[in-house]
Amino acid sequence: MRRPVIAGNWKMNGTTAESVLLARELAERLASGVEPEVIVAPTFTALIPVREALGGTAVALAAQNLHWETKGAYTGEISAEMLVDAGCSHVIIGHSERRALFGETDAAVNRKVIAALAQGLTPIVCVGESLEQRESGATREVVLSQLDGALAGLDGDAVGQLILAYEPVWAIGTGHTASPEQAQEVHGWIRDRLAELAGPAVADIVRIQYGGSVKPANIATLMAKPDIDGALVGGASLKADSFEGIVRFERRG
Ligand code: PEP
Repeated sequence: MRRPVIAGNWKMNGTTAESVLLARELAERLASGVEPEVIVAPTFTALIPVREALGGTAVALAAQNLHWETKGAYTGEISAEMLVDAGCSHVIIGHSERRALFGETDAAVNRKVIAALAQGLTPIVCVGESLEQRESGATREVVLSQLDGALAGLDGDAVGQLILAYEPVWAIGTGHTASPEQAQEVHGWIRDRLAELAGPAVADIVRIQYGGSVKPANIATLMAKPDIDGALVGGASLKADSFEGIVRFERRG
């Protein structure tokens, strides 16, 4: 039985004051009776204040990116060690916005995953196809090749520490959620590939989130699918009531 994991990706939103306010509200609303593991990923400048606002709660802190080098002349970059220092336990890697807007390649994603694991951070590794790729029937090939690239060289132990997120690009921020069946099909392919790469025992413990226009109204049907273990949430994570509504989804089936 995999524990559900719900993560909120706040993207480039929120001043420090706004982020702290949201974190405080979440800390209050999620203080008890929550089944999933809950993670929030504020912008870099809000990490430490949000950590302080969440202090004493079970809500974990993630960054939205990192650089693979440990230190040095890499202007504008942040290392895994710095994220740990800021209080992060998780880091989102390979989000489709980073791939599409900032040229992040599978090789870069792989280096980031290795750097994060070396510092004890749990990577949330994102994969997903564009609309064009889906319409041309390339979804399986695209997603599995991103997965293979991200996990290159990792042993079973390392793979077992990851969280994966299947995020079809056409569903992110568009209001068009993948149907539970569409999402389950891809999650099944991902789990099968994990079994090939790292063995069935590891594949069985790795949690695979779905991401793409998740809301309180659609989370339960997604979570009812056997290989959907949680959600990576963008827009709906920016309001405490909608994020709480997702975290407190009701189990079906
Ligand atoms: C995301 O950016 O990871 C995401 C899933 O966004 P949204 O929930 O807004 O579609």
